[in-house]
Amino acid sequence: MAHWSKYSEELIATAKAIGTPGKGILAADESTGTIGKRFAPINVENSEANRRSYRELLFESEGLGDHISGVILFEETLHQSTADGKPFSTLLKEKGVLPGIKVDKGVTPIPGTEGETSTQGLDGLLGRCQEYYKAGARFAKWRAVLKINKELGLPSALAIQENAWGLARYAAICQEAGLAPIVEPEILMDGTHTIEEAAAATEKVLVGVYKALADNKVLLEGSLLKPNMVYAGNESGQKNTAGDIAFYTVRTLQRTVPPSVPTICFLSGGQTEEDASLNLSAMNQLDAKRPWSLTFSYGRALQASTLKAWMGNLENLPKAQAEFLKRAQANGLATLGKYTGGLEGAAAGESLVVKNYVY
Ligand code: 13P
Repeated sequence: MAHWSKYSEELIATAKAIGTPGKGILAADESTGTIGKRFAPINVENSEANRRSYRELLFESEGLGDHISGVILFEETLHQSTADGKPFSTLLKEKGVLPGIKVDKGVTPIPGTEGETSTQGLDGLLGRCQEYYKAGARFAKWRAVLKINKELGLPSALAIQENAWGLARYAAICQEAGLAPIVEPEILMDGTHTIEEAAAATEKVLVGVYKALADNKVLLEGSLLKPNMVYAGNESGQKNTAGDIAFYTVRTLQRTVPPSVPTICFLSGGQTEEDASLNLSAMNQLDAKRPWSLTFSYGRALQASTLKAWMGNLENLPKAQAEFLKRAQANGLATLGKYTGGLEGAAAGESLVVKNYVY
């Protein structure tokens, strides 16, 4: 295929492999600050050694590759190894799992807006991506954050434009370095909006994102989308069924995401572990056109029960790994529309909402 990146074929293969039916992504790319927030409730000190052991627990799980096609890492983790000295990127590859890397540097306020943000990290990005590729990474993630607020008119046109453009510039730079970009415009669940309003906002954002990707000559076949599911705000009082969420989410994607995009991998965004699995399964059961593979790229919804079972204690390792594999299996089934519930773990029904979430 004629495209400016010498990595075109590899990018296409990577983006497609991540969406292999039955598999999805483990988002284990919590920054040092964020993993500290996960460790605090289980009284685990946020030290380099503990971060390393926790990630080893996840990656060493027996049969990881049965339901996980890729793992997103934080930069520190990409350069870490197992206790036996095997680099994590090698371990993952041996298990048939693609290593990915979070390349954004967090969000910063856009002056003159009502607390809206843009994502940082474009300066020097090409050089960093080239280094990550050498270290074994094959895909990347960049998270943009948008908010819905009807009274304040959010997301504003300015925030949509700024975030769409940032995602597109990031995606083009990644492709130049051989990393398949995950384009993540997350609209937070915070707010009083209805599911219909969430659908309208998500549609507007995704239209902006795909226009910017086209303007920046991004090879869509070698990219992935990581969107929020469409549901009512967590202060709306509106209850949505899995069927409602599936209908509005798939309709929104049908209206905005070209069929050339092979893989759409949802973030969990504060849903409970069970809801994140059941809602994904409902989408894959829907009698509707779905030209992309619909899968998961969950952080909280894959790890909450695992963290609870682990508690930072080596003795709990088998129990914690069993919890993790249960979630991976549930979500693997959900990509086939075959998860009907019943694999609840220690935190399956627990709310994972974090207000104004930063990653
Ligand atoms: P959650 O699934 O916890 O929302 O996180 C996924 C992620 O990678 C956010 O950028």
